[in-house]
Amino acid sequence: MYIGRFAPSPTGPLHLGSIMIAIASFLEAKVNNGLWHLKIDDLDHFRVKQEYINQIKEQLLELNLSWDGEIIFQSKRIANYNFFLHKIESLRRTYICTCSRKKILTNSEPGIDGGIYPGTCRHKNNTRKKNHAIRVLTNKEIVALNDGLQGHYEQDIEEQIGDFIIKRSDNIVSYQLAVIVDDYLDKTTHILRGADLLESTPRQIYLQKILSLPQINYIHLPTLNIAGRKLSKSNGDDLMYKNDPKKIWLTVLKFLDQKIPPKNLTLNEIIEFAIKNWCVKNIKSKRFIDIDDYIHTS
Ligand SMILES: [Zn+2]
Repeated sequence: MYIGRFAPSPTGPLHLGSIMIAIASFLEAKVNNGLWHLKIDDLDHFRVKQEYINQIKEQLLELNLSWDGEIIFQSKRIANYNFFLHKIESLRRTYICTCSRKKILTNSEPGIDGGIYPGTCRHKNNTRKKNHAIRVLTNKEIVALNDGLQGHYEQDIEEQIGDFIIKRSDNIVSYQLAVIVDDYLDKTTHILRGADLLESTPRQIYLQKILSLPQINYIHLPTLNIAGRKLSKSNGDDLMYKNDPKKIWLTVLKFLDQKIPPKNLTLNEIIEFAIKNWCVKNIKSKRFIDIDDYIHTS
């Protein structure tokens, strides 16, 4: 059984790039007669707001993107995350890191996803403090995946990332750990998300292997770029076509090089057409789609 999901963080309403991911993951689940879950990544309680959760739900429903089952909230799973955190600790694959952010910044070489942690605390046998982070030990093993759109992707995590954090110094479990625990609990089989997360996928596979959790199939879609930058919550708001769900659907299908439905269809007919004709392999861009030309002419 195909089980997919869409997992927004409620730090703002969905922008067009996130909506594109929602639509694509929905279509991929439907084409495979699968389930499509909605999971709210609300662990970072400093940035999360209830009003954004409500807004995201409204946005999805307006687009007729209805999810299967109850909405999943990461904030209700702290005990599950701690269970798996302790499991990794009991396997002696972690250590306590007391480095300050400043210390890491000045001592690390730039890497593909922030600075490469130089292993400062690896052999220090630090004792627990109030605000320590927990890092997982990496090794020489190359971690690879066969992405449904990006193809073969591999990483030497120790070399390119360094020992990475699984619990932050503010006591919040890291995205990398939380997401693999979620996918295990939700029996997720397929993940379709933005290519900005491709670099973090090997870390997730690495943790899945340590914990002997099932592997998942991945498709990383190009992100939307505007003026050379990734579309974010602070730019591209004008691209939301508020109250025009049909236009949003048609725009997304165009960005993703899908067959465009005939004119004058209802929203439901557009969606039916999109499901019938959906094909990931049609997507021409890999890492990003530059939408400047499109918006300046429309
Ligand atoms: Zn450290």
